[in-house]
Amino acid sequence: MEIAINILALLFGFTIMEGVAWFTHKYIMHGFLWSWHKSHHEPRHGMFEKNDLFALVFGSIAAILIIIGSHNLDWKFFLGIGISIYGLAYFLVHDVFVHQRIKLFRNTKSTYFSAMRFAHKIHHKTTGKHGAEAFGFLFVSMKYINKFKKNKA
Ligand SMILES: [Zn+2]
Ligand SMILES: [Zn+2]
Repeated sequence: MEIAINILALLFGFTIMEGVAWFTHKYIMHGFLWSWHKSHHEPRHGMFEKNDLFALVFGSIAAILIIIGSHNLDWKFFLGIGISIYGLAYFLVHDVFVHQRIKLFRNTKSTYFSAMRFAHKIHHKTTGKHGAEAFGFLFVSMKYINKFKKNKA
């Protein structure tokens, strides 16, 4: 029973983070913390941008869950792991694949990943706080997959 709860906690941590990321991006980053996120809509100078602070915040939440859950290896531990796996996936896809902070995975032929990049480039068309679209990330809506296919054709 406990193992089922732990697996569920892990999957929940991973899945819920896309919702959390979408909500945070739309209402907080393009809201009262635009002063942090703005750096991500401008050319970057150097290795880091102020927007990276968000990764630090989410990373800290995951680390706290892992630490307090590590005594009994209970659901908190696995929830923290799920959030961390999402964070890693987000970093690999958003920061590496899309923004090329490390020059890797440039030439994908996958429709899904190409549509994801396409949707995120639409998001980056807006340089201001308002008027942007496509706030989600790993889970690409069919709307953008179809737009991407049309764009390619
Ligand atoms: Zn944004
Ligand atoms: Zn971006």
